[in-house]
Amino acid sequence: MKTKAYINGKWVGNGKTFAVLDPFSGKQIARVSDLGKADAVKGIEAAHKAFPKWAAMPAIERSAKLVRMADLMEKRADQLTKLLTLEQGKPLTEAKGEILLGVHALKWLAEEGCRVHGYTQCDPDLNRSSLSLRQPMGVVSAITPWNFPSYVPLKSLAALAAGCTLVLKPAEDTPLSALALADLSEEVDIPPGVFNVIPCKHPKEVGEVLATHPLVSKITFTGSTEVGKHLLKLGASGVKKTTLELGGNCPLIIFEDADLEKAIQGALTLKFWNCGQCCNGINRFLVHTSICDAFIKKCVQKVKKMTCGSGFEPVDLGPLIHEKAKKKVDSLVREAVAHGAQEVFSSPQKGRLCAPIVLENCTPKMRISREEIFGPVVAIYRFRTEAEAISMANDTHYGLAAYFYSENLNRCLRVAKALEAGTVGVNTTGVYSITLPFGGWKESGIGREAGIVESLNDYCELKAISFGL
Ligand code: ADP
Repeated sequence: MKTKAYINGKWVGNGKTFAVLDPFSGKQIARVSDLGKADAVKGIEAAHKAFPKWAAMPAIERSAKLVRMADLMEKRADQLTKLLTLEQGKPLTEAKGEILLGVHALKWLAEEGCRVHGYTQCDPDLNRSSLSLRQPMGVVSAITPWNFPSYVPLKSLAALAAGCTLVLKPAEDTPLSALALADLSEEVDIPPGVFNVIPCKHPKEVGEVLATHPLVSKITFTGSTEVGKHLLKLGASGVKKTTLELGGNCPLIIFEDADLEKAIQGALTLKFWNCGQCCNGINRFLVHTSICDAFIKKCVQKVKKMTCGSGFEPVDLGPLIHEKAKKKVDSLVREAVAHGAQEVFSSPQKGRLCAPIVLENCTPKMRISREEIFGPVVAIYRFRTEAEAISMANDTHYGLAAYFYSENLNRCLRVAKALEAGTVGVNTTGVYSITLPFGGWKESGIGREAGIVESLNDYCELKAISFGL
C-alpha cells in the first residue's frame, strides 16, 4: 500500500500525515502524507516541466504506456479491489466492478488518444488554405471524490492520453486507490512529472493552489455543487478551462404502462449501488398513482431481503462513508416524516451501517426532494399525468441524469426529449459508459467527461492555422 505522495516520479512526504479510516469499523487503516500549498506547487512545477516531452511523444507511444498500465491494473485487480473496499466500504463485488470498469476505460481512452482529430475546411478565400488542430492544453489539476476512489481519478487520465500532464488531489477519506494508480504508472514507466498525486487532509489551501496557479491550464473536478462553484470562481481569475461534474437529484419515473418487474429491478439496483452514494443515483421515485401500491409492495418484498455489513462479507450494502453522511440521511428522513411522509419499511440502524428505508407520500416541499440523499432511501412520490411527472422530474436545479420506464414507444421518445438531464435512461438504469458523454445540465456541471468526442477534446485547445498561398 502506497501512503506517500507521488511527485515528479518520487514517493515523498513532508513529515505530516493524516489517518485514513475503515468506514465499517472506524479504525485507522493507514496514515497518508498530508501535503500543503508548497507541495502542491512542486507537483504543478513537475507537471509543467514534464509537459513538453510528453506532449511531443507520438500518440501511439503514449497510448501504449497507458494500455500497459491498464493491463497491469487488470492483473492486480484482486489486490486493488480489496484496497478499494478497505478504504471506501463498498462490497467486494462492486469494488471489483469499479476496478474492471477502470481497466476498460483506460484502454479505451488510450486508444482514443491516437484519434484526436482536427479538421480542414473549404476556405472562402482562394488565396488561403486553412486547417484546425487540437493540441494538449498543458498542466491539468484534478480533484476527485470518495464515492468512486479508483474510477474517477482513473477517468482523469484522459488528460494523459491527450498529451497533458496531471496533478491529482484525491479525497481525504479515500486517497489510497489513487496512490495505487500512481504506483501502476511508475511501473509502466510513465515519465516523472506526467502524473502526480498529492493527498491532503484539508483541501481548501491545496485546492486553491490547484485552481489558481498560473502554470495550470485546466481544472477537472468531481464533487459537490458547492465546492464546484467555489473552484469555478477561483479559476475564473486565470480563465482556467474547467470541467465540473457536480451533484444530482435524479428522478426515476415509473409510468402506468411500464413493465413493473423490469422497472423495480432497474430501480433498486441503481438505488442501492454503493449504498446510494452515487451522483447519478435515484433521489426521487415518481410512480403513477394507479400502480404505486403494487410498486411499494414489490419494492418492500425485495428490500426486506437486503443485507448490510462489512464490504468484505457477501452483503448487498456496505457502510456509508462516515458519520456525517449517516447523520445527513437520518435528518432528511426525520424531516420528511415530520412533514407527512410514511416509513413503509425500515429496520434497526446499527452503528455506521445504514439499512434501507422506503418512504411514501413524499412531496416536493420536503428537503429530501431538494437535496441529494446519498444513502439507501427509496423516497416515493405519486403522480397522475405524464405532464405532471415531467414537471416534477425537472423541478430541480440539478440535471445530471433521469430515468423512466414505459412500454409505449411514442411516450418514450416524448419523455426522453422533455427531461432536462445530461443522461436519460429509458427502460434501464444502467446508463454509464466511457464511450458516452457524461455530465450535467443546470447546476450539475459544465463540460463532459467520457464520450467519443468529448473525452479527449476537453483536454485540448483548438487552433486555427491559415496559410497564405
Ligand atoms: P462531498 O460532499 O461528496 O465530500 P466535496 O465536494 O466536499 O464532496 O469533495 C469532493 C472533493 O473536493 C474532495 O477531493 C475534497 O477534498 C475536495 N474539496 C472539498 N472542499 C474543497 C475546497 N474548498 N477546495 C478544493 N477542493 C475541495
